[in-house]
Amino acid sequence: MDDEVVITRVGGGCTKDSEGNLVLLRDQNADSSTFNSIINSKDANVPVGLIIGDRNTLLGRKLPHRYNVMAYFRVSDIWHEKVGRRTGAKVRFEKLDLECLSWWATQGSPRPAPLSKRQWSIAPETSRCPTCLQTSRRVYNEGWMCLQPACKSFWSMDGLTPESLSFNPDFLNFRTTPDPFTLPQYSLVPNLLSTINEADREVSTLRIAWKGIVCPECNKCISRRFWRGWKCTDDIARLPENQSEPCRFQKMMEMHPASLRSVVDDFELGPIKRALYFDTKFARPEADDQTLYPFRKLTYHIPGVGSITHFVSNRNINSRENGPNDLFRQLQSKDLGLRRYPLQQSVG
Ligand SMILES: [Zn+2]
Ligand SMILES: [Zn+2]
Repeated sequence: MDDEVVITRVGGGCTKDSEGNLVLLRDQNADSSTFNSIINSKDANVPVGLIIGDRNTLLGRKLPHRYNVMAYFRVSDIWHEKVGRRTGAKVRFEKLDLECLSWWATQGSPRPAPLSKRQWSIAPETSRCPTCLQTSRRVYNEGWMCLQPACKSFWSMDGLTPESLSFNPDFLNFRTTPDPFTLPQYSLVPNLLSTINEADREVSTLRIAWKGIVCPECNKCISRRFWRGWKCTDDIARLPENQSEPCRFQKMMEMHPASLRSVVDDFELGPIKRALYFDTKFARPEADDQTLYPFRKLTYHIPGVGSITHFVSNRNINSRENGPNDLFRQLQSKDLGLRRYPLQQSVG
């Protein structure tokens, strides 16, 4: 990994052996969804966003967060390697924006050379395999190999299986000439708030408004934890060791209660008397309309266990003062302090 290129194995299909080493469980090929989506991104010229966790030591620096969004990268190469008895896939990502210095570059790194000064002619040699007639790039310094896993000559250098390998400098250093067609699907930092029009009464409860936003003041990702909106600093989730001044950004919305009409699909708001049908394959409850009128009482007798009683409501009951219909409205108009609580921040 450097400031602009990331080489990594394609994730998935691994387990840890008794010594804690990652071991491939199966060959990585077109049956793997991760592998397929990387191939697809390459073919369709759609760059991918990379995220680095703070347990990754490759950058040789302390990362500010548990997960850190790097940038958009184009998929420049995908190839296969032999890993033990299995075939693993590897991928080379190249940063899409070559004009600005990467935030993860070592402090004091010079600004990247302007595009006009770059040597676009550097390219790793590409050879056609005499066995399978497919081309592979020279990925390794030690020599060229066919990197097509279906080929008899795969992973063999002059008939020998290579042992220790290092990357070919041309393979590391080449850069794809920028083009106007490789574009990401969405912005790396989407501005969800700018798409929310608060005058729209439904918007505060829309599914998309359950999602997180990026804090416009400090760029932190903020999940929707509160009933009415987002707060950059969630006081109950603050780590005691984090003494720095917390960001106080918050965005609260006016919550418009959902009407009963918008959630009941029937012609009327609840049945006068619910028609019930019991499949003879299952237990039939005992129905009693009188004892607890206007409720209908259904009792399911479970032999050897006991019984379950169900009080069936109807429109009359639901529309009583302070009854279920009123409760539905009241629960929405009061802020009961409903919120999401943080789970353990990450696993594994
Ligand atoms: Zn071959
Ligand atoms: Zn913030």
